[in-house]
Amino acid sequence: MFADVSFPISTYRIFTYRIPRRLEQIVQVGVRVSAPFGARKKAQGVIVNLHGKRRFKGKILSISNVLDETPIFDQALWDLINWVSRYYLTPLGQVMRTAVPSELTLSYTPPEQLMIKANIVPVSDMLTLSEKSPKQYKVMEYLSHRVDPIPVAMLNSVVGNGWTICRALEKKGYVTLSRKPRLPDVSGLSFIPLPKQINFSAAQKRILDDLGVHLKDKKFAPYLLHGVTGSGKTEIYIHLANQAEQEGRRSIMLLPEISLTPQFAGRFRAVFGERVAIWHSQMTTAERAWTWKQINRGAYTIIVGARSVIFTPVRNVGLIVVDEEQESGFKQESPAPRYHARDVALMRGKLSGALTVLAGATPSLESYYNHAIGKLNYVSLKIRYGGAKYPQVHVVNMMVEREETGNYALTLSRLLVEKMGQRLKRGEQVILLQNRRGFSPIIYCRTCGNVEMCHQCKISLTFHKVEHTLKCHYCNFRKSVPETCRACGDTKIVPLGIGTQKVEENLTELFPEMRLVRMDLDTTRRKGAYTRILKKFGSGDYHVLLGTQMIAKGLDFENVTLVGIINADTGLYLPDFRAGERTFQLVYQVAGRSGRGRKPGEVVIQTNSPDNPAIQCAAQLDLKKYYNICLNEREELLYPPFSWTAKVEFYGKRSEAVEKQAETFLGNLQDKPKHIKILGPAPCPIERIRGNFRYQIIFKSSKDILLISESSPVFTAL
Ligand code: ADP
Ligand code: ZN
Repeated sequence: MFADVSFPISTYRIFTYRIPRRLEQIVQVGVRVSAPFGARKKAQGVIVNLHGKRRFKGKILSISNVLDETPIFDQALWDLINWVSRYYLTPLGQVMRTAVPSELTLSYTPPEQLMIKANIVPVSDMLTLSEKSPKQYKVMEYLSHRVDPIPVAMLNSVVGNGWTICRALEKKGYVTLSRKPRLPDVSGLSFIPLPKQINFSAAQKRILDDLGVHLKDKKFAPYLLHGVTGSGKTEIYIHLANQAEQEGRRSIMLLPEISLTPQFAGRFRAVFGERVAIWHSQMTTAERAWTWKQINRGAYTIIVGARSVIFTPVRNVGLIVVDEEQESGFKQESPAPRYHARDVALMRGKLSGALTVLAGATPSLESYYNHAIGKLNYVSLKIRYGGAKYPQVHVVNMMVEREETGNYALTLSRLLVEKMGQRLKRGEQVILLQNRRGFSPIIYCRTCGNVEMCHQCKISLTFHKVEHTLKCHYCNFRKSVPETCRACGDTKIVPLGIGTQKVEENLTELFPEMRLVRMDLDTTRRKGAYTRILKKFGSGDYHVLLGTQMIAKGLDFENVTLVGIINADTGLYLPDFRAGERTFQLVYQVAGRSGRGRKPGEVVIQTNSPDNPAIQCAAQLDLKKYYNICLNEREELLYPPFSWTAKVEFYGKRSEAVEKQAETFLGNLQDKPKHIKILGPAPCPIERIRGNFRYQIIFKSSKDILLISESSPVFTAL
C-alpha cells in the first residue's frame, strides 16, 4: 500500500511513500504522519491519497509513524482546502500551513478558574439574607439570573470582595463552587453581560423564519443580510446559532478583525456560556494548538474569530456568518494563500450544506452586485431596533471654511466646534474620526519644498509629536526630527496635514476642561488597551473619543449624540479602484454611530470635496445611488465584480533587475488568451517598500467568459 503525502512546503509536489505493514490498519486520508524528508531527517505531512499502485519509479521511502487516530479534517474541510489551493494558485502544503497549527503536538494545560453557581434557596432564607448581609444578597440576586456557572472573578464587578463573599455563601450552602479550565482568551473578555430579553420585531421575525427554513434543510443557502447599524443583526445571529445548535449543528462567526471580538463574543457567551470558543491570532502556539484540538473533537458549538477561523476543523457546520463582510480585513495579503475569507466562507458553506450569511450595514459592492443578479438571497432591516432616528447630517466645505476664516491650516470648522461645545455643556458624548495617526503625515521645508521621506520606502515620514520622532508607517523606520533641511540647509521645517495627535492638540487648546481619549494604533498596542478605552468611554469617563477607523465599527453608545469626521477625504484619492467604495463605507458607518439611544444625533462631515459622489451619497445616507454609480464605473473599466483579476508582484533590491524580470516573465507566458487584458509591468503604487523595488502585472478577464469553470464557485462571488 502507498500513501501520497503533502508537506507544508512551497511546491505543488505530492510525495509517495510506502506504508509499512504495521501501520496499514491505522492509516487514513487526512491523518498526519511523520516521514523521512529531504535533508531534514523527518517531517510532518498529511496523507492526501491512499492507493495500491506505485506510480513513482525512483526509490520509495516508508512512512515512519502515524500521528493521529482520526483525520484532522472532515471531508468538507478537506475539499475546501483543496479548492483554496486550486483557486488561489497555492500549493496544498502551503494552504495547510494556514489551516493547521504547526505544532499540534505541543502540550498545553489551560489554567483553572473557580466557578460559582447559585443553589435553590428557600425564599425565607433569602429574606433573612437581604436584611442581615446585603452584600451576600446582592451576589445571590446577581447569580439568580444565570443558568450556567460563572467565574468568581466576575463578582468583583458586583461587590468589592467577591472571594470572601462567595466563601461565606458556600458555607451556608447557598452556592456551589467548581473548577474549570480557563479557555485561552486574550481578547480582554473578563465580563460577560447578562442575557437580554429579546422581543423580535415583525421585520426581524420574517428574516428569522426565512433563514430558519434553510437551517432545517441542511442545504447551502447563501444570503446577504443588509441591516443598518443597530437593527439587531447580532441578535439574529444569536438566534440562528441557537437553532443550529438544537439541530445538532455548529456555527462559525467571522469578524473582520480581532479588536471587535470582545463585545461580540461577550454577547454570545451570555447566551451560550462555555460553548463559545474564540479563535484568534494572538494566542500562543500552544494555546492555538490546544484550542484547535478542542474544536476538532467537537468541544464547542460556536466558534468566533477573525479571518483564519474559516479554516478551523469545526464538524457539522450548519451556519456561517460573515459580519461586516465588506471589510478589507477579510482579505489575506501575505503570505499565500492570498484568500478572501468571505469567499472561502461561501465555499465552505456550499461544501457543508450550511446557511451562509454575509451581513453588514454597507455591503461590499461585490455582494451587492451578486444580490442584484440573483446569486445571493437578500434580506434587509431598514430601521434600527426601537426605531431610533437617523442622524441629521451637515457637510462642511473646508475649502470655503478656510477662505472665510483666513486660516489655511484650519483643522476644526466653526460648526463642529460650536456643536462640540453644546455637547460638553449638556454632558453628552462625541466621537471624532480622523483616519490617520500621528501628528501630520508630511513634514517639509518651507524654503525649498523638500519632504522628509523614508529611505527604504517611497513614502513620506509621519511626524509623531508625542514621541517627537518621524516614523514610516510602512516599515516602522524611525528617526529624530532634523533641525535643518537636508536639501537646502534652511531651518524652516514644518508639519503639513492632519493626524489624530494634531486634532487632539487643537481640541485641548479649544476645550481645556474636556476629557478626550485617543484611539489609534499608537495607543492600542498593548493587550487589552482597546477594550479598556471603550469601557471607560462607555461608562462616561471621557467626553470625546477620537480615533482612526478602528472606532467606526461595532460600537454601541447611548450617550453619543455627535459624530465629527475631521477629514472625510483621507483615502479618497489613493491609487486603488476600491478607494471610493471604502471612503463611502467608512463615512456612512461612522455617521451611523451618532444617536443610538433616545437622543437624536448629528453628524458633521468636513471635506475638501463635497461634490465627490462617495462623500455626497454617504452624507445623504443614499447607498443605492452610490453603488449604482460605482457599478457603472467598474463595468466600464472591467474591474470586479465584472472581472476576475490577478496581480503578480515582483520585488528586489535593484530597480532595473526587477523590471527586467517582470518583462521576461510576461514574455515567457505562452499562448496568452485574447480575452485576458494585461496591464504592465508597471511600478506598484508604492514603488519601494523596505528597500525593495516593486513592479506588478495585472491580469483581467471578463466574467462573461467562464475560464476556470471547474474550480470557480458557482456563485461567482469573486
Ligand atoms: P447590529 O448587530 O445590527 O448593529 P444589534 O444586534 O447590536 O444590531 O442591536 C442593537 C441593539 O438593539 C442591541 O443592544 C440589541 O440587543 C438590541 N436589540 C436588537 N433587536 C432586539 C430585540 N428584538 N429585542 C430586544 N433588543 C434588541
Ligand atoms: Zn519605510
